[in-house]
Amino acid sequence: MISVSLEAVRARIADAARRSGRAPDSVTLVAVAKTYPTEDVEAARAAGQRVFGENRVQEAMAKYAPLRAAGVAFELHLIGPLQSNKVREAVATFDVIQTLDRPKLAAALAAEIARSGRRPRLFVQVNTGAEPQKAGIAPESVDAFLAECRDVHRLPVEGLMCIPPADEPAAPHFALLREIARRNGLACLSMGMSGDFETAVALGATHVRVGSAIFGRRE
Ligand SMILES: *Cc1c(COP(=O)(O)O)cnc(C)c1O
Repeated sequence: MISVSLEAVRARIADAARRSGRAPDSVTLVAVAKTYPTEDVEAARAAGQRVFGENRVQEAMAKYAPLRAAGVAFELHLIGPLQSNKVREAVATFDVIQTLDRPKLAAALAAEIARSGRRPRLFVQVNTGAEPQKAGIAPESVDAFLAECRDVHRLPVEGLMCIPPADEPAAPHFALLREIARRNGLACLSMGMSGDFETAVALGATHVRVGSAIFGRRE
């Protein structure tokens, strides 16, 4: 049951936070509902969950429009790649975009924010493992990219996000992300998924993105 697994994940986050001397409420649980229907989002909401993550713009628009229309309170994070031609929909749909990963997207977001007046909070995705097939700014280019976002596009960035390589221990990647955030004065770190969110909390995650541990295994 979603309420039970959600409670278990919350308890594990709180324990991991306390073990590192952190307040449990310093970690935001982003419940990743991709591929699961609106009914499952509703079940999580009924159990008190307010922050959700989706990786596709189209799917998110369809799933959350009824909730927005009903005036229910929730916060929606985009955690998947954003194509430039979907920027308008993304800015209209998401409260937080965690996957700012290239200069062209920064320019498109800045233009759409100016046009619409809607200002989603932004995280920069970092390709900590330098994987050629993975999105994200290379670790050595993040400082310059953040400066470009701030000085050229007037886009305030709140934090960093990473998806470590699947076949490596995650901890060194989380530590690298934390170090890049520290030297750039960024407060937020989105790292950790179902398999490693406790490690991420120990290394300073402020946002963990947990899907299957809450909603069950995806097809
Ligand atoms: C799907 C996804 C998650 C959640 O993964 P689980 O292993 O199901 O917890 C987290 N982050 C991103 C970017 C994802 O695409």
